[in-house]
Amino acid sequence: MASVSPGLPGGSGGSDGLVLVLNSGSSSVKFALLAPETGERLIAGIGERLGTPEAVLRIQQFPAAAVEERLPGGSHLAVVTRVLDRLAVEYPGVHLLGAGHRVVHGGERFTSSIRVDDSVMAAVRSCSHLAPLHNPANLAGIEAVRSVLPDLPQVAVFDTAFHQTMPPHAFRYAVPEEWYTDYGVRRYGFHGISHRFVSEQAAALLGRPLRDLRLVTVHLGNGCSAAAVRDGVSVDTTMGLTPLDGLVMGTRSGDVDPGVLGYMAERTGMDAGQLTRVLNLDSGLQGLSGVGNDMRTIEAAAAEGNERARLALEVFVYRLSKAIAGLVVGLERLDALVFTGGIGENSAVVRSLVLSQLGFLGLAEDTQANADHGRRTGGRISLAGPVLALVVPTDEELLIARDTARVLTGG
Ligand code: ADP
Repeated sequence: MASVSPGLPGGSGGSDGLVLVLNSGSSSVKFALLAPETGERLIAGIGERLGTPEAVLRIQQFPAAAVEERLPGGSHLAVVTRVLDRLAVEYPGVHLLGAGHRVVHGGERFTSSIRVDDSVMAAVRSCSHLAPLHNPANLAGIEAVRSVLPDLPQVAVFDTAFHQTMPPHAFRYAVPEEWYTDYGVRRYGFHGISHRFVSEQAAALLGRPLRDLRLVTVHLGNGCSAAAVRDGVSVDTTMGLTPLDGLVMGTRSGDVDPGVLGYMAERTGMDAGQLTRVLNLDSGLQGLSGVGNDMRTIEAAAAEGNERARLALEVFVYRLSKAIAGLVVGLERLDALVFTGGIGENSAVVRSLVLSQLGFLGLAEDTQANADHGRRTGGRISLAGPVLALVVPTDEELLIARDTARVLTGG
C-alpha cells in the first residue's frame, strides 16, 4: 500500500491538514476526507453490506462522479485500507491531521470530544450495553484506522455528549432509583452532533451570539429528535435511553404508553425483543400509513387522498409541534425554531404545517421563503417577529472534522 504521512506539514488540504471522518455502522462505513476550516471535501463515500459477498464501496473523488467497486467479504478494515490507499495515490504527501469518528453512545462518561487512546476505547466498549449495535461498530472503525496507520491520531465525537448538560429534572425518568444507579436508565438523547452544529449555524445566521439564544432545534431524518438549546447548551431533548423515544419517525414509534408493551406481550405472546423490533422497524410513518417510511411517499399519497397517509402526516406534525411547545418549558423563552435533517431541510409541507400549528407561539410562515429555502440554502422561513423559524442544513461530518482538528491542535 502507498503510504499517507500522518501529521506531515505541507501537501494538499491547507495549512492545518485534512481530517478523515468515519461513521461506522454494523454493516456500513460512511467516510469523508475534508478540510476542517472550509468544509471542502476531497473524497467521500460509503462501504455497504460489509461482511457479505455483496460488499461494495462507493467512492467519490470530487468533482468526479462516484464510482463503485466490489469488495467481496470486505470489512471495515478493507474499506479504510482502500480509502487510505486511494488517498495516498491521488494526494501524495497529503497532510492528514487525524481521523474523527462518530461514536453513538458516550453514556455519562463523555461530555465532549476526546482523543482516542486505550482507556477511551475501553470506556466506549463499556458503554456498549447502551448501544449494542452501534458502539462495537464505531470501535471497529477506530481499530481499522489504527491497524492501517498506527500513528495517526484519532478523535471520538459522541452523539450523546451535547446532551450531557441536561439538568436531572430533564434527564431522569420517574422509575425506581436503582434503575438509574445500577442500570443507567435515564434520558441520554442522540443527534447531538447535528443539534450542536445547527445551533452554531443558526446563531451565525441570526447574527447573534449563541450564548444569548434560546432555540428549539429539530432534526428530522430517518430518525427524528428535537432539542431545547439554551445559551448554547442542551437543556432537554426528545430521545431518551434509546433513539426510540420521542417524535414519530420513519419506522420508529416514538413515545408510546409503556403499558402497551405488557398489553401486547399478553395479547400476542411476543417477547421484549420482538416488541422492540416492531416499535423500531414497523411503526412510525410506516406503521401508520402502510405506504412507506419516506416522507416524500407519505406526502404524495396524502395529496392523492390516501387517508392513512394523511393521518400519518397529521400525527407526525401534531406530535412534533407538541414536543416543540413542551421543550419551550426548559427554555422559558423561544427565539428561534430551527429545522434540519432530510425532512426538515426538504419538506416545505411539514415545515408549513408545524408553523401553522405553532402560531400561538408567535410563529408565522413566510410562504415564499419557506418554498425557497432548503437543503442548498438555509435561511429564515418566518415573517419578522419575536420568534423566528429557520432552515439550517446540517453537516455532521464537518462538525466531526472541526472537533478533531480542535482536539488535536489544542485549539
Ligand atoms: P438520515 O437520518 O438517514 O441521515 P436524512 O437526514 O437524509 O436521513 O433524511 C432522510 C429522509 O428525508 C427520507 O426518509 C425522507 O423522508 C426525507 N426527505 C428527503 N427528501 C425529501 C423531500 N424532498 N421531501 C420530503 N421529505 C424528504
